[in-house]
Amino acid sequence: MQNIGMLIDYEWCSGCHSCEVACQMEHGLPVGQTGISVTTIGPWEIEEDSWQYTNIAIPTDQCDGCLDRRAKGKLASCAHHCQAKCLHVGPLEDLVAHLDAKPNQALYRLM
Ligand code: SF4
Ligand code: SF4
Repeated sequence: MQNIGMLIDYEWCSGCHSCEVACQMEHGLPVGQTGISVTTIGPWEIEEDSWQYTNIAIPTDQCDGCLDRRAKGKLASCAHHCQAKCLHVGPLEDLVAHLDAKPNQALYRLM
């Protein structure tokens, strides 16, 4: 079985929560349960004109990598609805290559 990953670029994540809603609607999950969860760290001032303010989206145990959608050639629902285009789901080995490009990214192995 192919290893599936989720790559998130935190530089561009706006904390909009669209990925949570898209996942919940796609999978018919109960209110409050999603395959991805978004948290905001900060804002707090580190030094003058330097702030900690980061939105963190992270997959939960209810994420199945949108196997059914992707088998039909579609994007994962969360990735499809991420307007910042900072969220990607696909083969782990393809996503690993993107990590070298820049900092502030995280790659999760989903399965
Ligand atoms: S890949 Fe699919 S199941 Fe996983 S968080 Fe995204 S929408 Fe939910
Ligand atoms: S939809 Fe994209 S920009 Fe919005 S919270 Fe999710 S990962 Fe971040």
